[in-house]
Amino acid sequence: MITARQSGLVACRSCGRVWPLGTPTCGRCGAALVSRDAKSLQRVMAWWTAGLICYIPANLYPMLVTTTFGSEEKGTIVGGAIEIARHGDFLIAAIVLIASVMIPVSKFIAIAYLAHSAWRPRPGGALRRLHLFEATEFIGRWSMIDVFVVAILSALVQFSVVASIHPGPAALTFALSVIFTMLSAKSFDPRLIWDGETIESPAEP
Ligand SMILES: [Zn+2]
Repeated sequence: MITARQSGLVACRSCGRVWPLGTPTCGRCGAALVSRDAKSLQRVMAWWTAGLICYIPANLYPMLVTTTFGSEEKGTIVGGAIEIARHGDFLIAAIVLIASVMIPVSKFIAIAYLAHSAWRPRPGGALRRLHLFEATEFIGRWSMIDVFVVAILSALVQFSVVASIHPGPAALTFALSVIFTMLSAKSFDPRLIWDGETIESPAEP
């Protein structure tokens, strides 16, 4: 068995039509044709690093600034979750921790692992890596829950005279971090996952 790439062909990722290697754009739908995105891993790591840099202040600076009767209270993500748990809302505390700590951290690890194994392709485990990539892409957007919670809280409490809630500097850097890691996952060319694999014959019907 040989791959399309080995036989000098490239498939259009938009409409599926196969063209000779080196054809710049698909003659059927006009999409750009690349057999492998050569700069994919560079872009993945650039966005990944930017995301990680933004994630550090997101945890150090306050996410919420609450003003009650003139006294100001600042809460970081983890500090806020502990505070919520102390009030007995364990479910909300768990959601905050999962959305803002567990998901981003496991996303950083997953993307770094995928990029590393695409950079040094080895046979085995490609299907597992594909599932990991799909999970990473799917789960990323849900990290934004935290930013929405801050936005909704700020809007709700703004009407009150005695208390007001403002998003802290961490809200912005956290949102940026989520966007950058989403772009990092988007830059990954999933075809790189299969390059280390040996081609298997199709199963007999
Ligand atoms: Zn096409």
